[in-house]
Amino acid sequence: MTDFDSFSQLVFTIAGPRATGLKAEDGAVSFMLDVSDMTTDERVQIEEKLRHACEQAGANSVRIMLTAERVTPRLIAVASGKGGVGKSTLSTNLAVAMKLAGRSVGLVDADIYGPSQPRLMGAEDNKPEADGKKLIPVIGAGGVPFLSMGQLAKPGQAIAWRGPMAGNALSQLVDAHWGQVRDIIVDMPPGTGDIQLSMVQKHKPLGAVIISTPQDLALMDATRAIGFFDTAKVPIIGLVENMAGYLCPHCGEMSNPFGAGGAEAAAAELGIPFLGRIPLDIDIRLASDAGTPPALSDGPIGRAYAEIARQVSDWIDNPKAHAA
Ligand code: ADP
Repeated sequence: MTDFDSFSQLVFTIAGPRATGLKAEDGAVSFMLDVSDMTTDERVQIEEKLRHACEQAGANSVRIMLTAERVTPRLIAVASGKGGVGKSTLSTNLAVAMKLAGRSVGLVDADIYGPSQPRLMGAEDNKPEADGKKLIPVIGAGGVPFLSMGQLAKPGQAIAWRGPMAGNALSQLVDAHWGQVRDIIVDMPPGTGDIQLSMVQKHKPLGAVIISTPQDLALMDATRAIGFFDTAKVPIIGLVENMAGYLCPHCGEMSNPFGAGGAEAAAAELGIPFLGRIPLDIDIRLASDAGTPPALSDGPIGRAYAEIARQVSDWIDNPKAHAA
């Protein structure tokens, strides 16, 4: 484990996502600490604890910059018309790729029908703790803080919340202790139910990324999801095509089990940006199931996710472009 990893783990254990921007070089450790929710006593205590722990772990200087700026994270919904098209996988890898590019990003798993982020983020055994009434996100793969509907229910328990209960659960995840996290990727349930309504009415995402497989039927469902966000006046950032083309690991031939280019054509027809395509690749499923998101690798798949993340980040940073 590098110095950076061990100090960042140590600092996170004590301060959670309130600590950001950690640097560790030649025993000099520095980071920012969000003290906006703390009393003076709490602040002094935590500062002392952090300083002491870092020194014990070998730091020869510890610089803690206090900030009290309250950040309201911007929410980016990742949505699909139906399940099984790779929405959760895209959410994980989008968040990880944005983090790798240096952004302060978190992830909320709002998919009540199949909350899979604890597994995809390689943190199934870590349960979030609460700080007062607010949950503290768990740190997952790539150092991305996340919270999942799956962490609010007992393992294996089907989550069939309706209406207000579903809405309250979503609020618990969104209004958690996100510290200095600026952008939160929200893995939405498929379709247009209670969570979606609660999301657009109460939490107003900045924009939505829609994912579809290339075939016509999936695209029709995606069009419905786009219509839902349009009606709610949530801008569409763009469309991602998943499972586009299959590269046979044996003969190397490329085939198109779900058709080719359908999503790109549909995006053009609907007048929304096309953000890119991810091939159907067994390694994506294997790496995802093992809790090591493929966005962490620097092969072609990692680069494909990085390129989608870059476009989403540009969109977030350029509010004028989507103000109209
Ligand atoms: P959703 O959230 O839309 O229900 P998931 O992200 O859970 O879909 O993906 C469904 C299954 O497909 C998972 O087993 C996942 O690993 C796999 N999968 C997703 N995208 C790809 C891909 N591009 N190539 C291969 N398998 C994929």
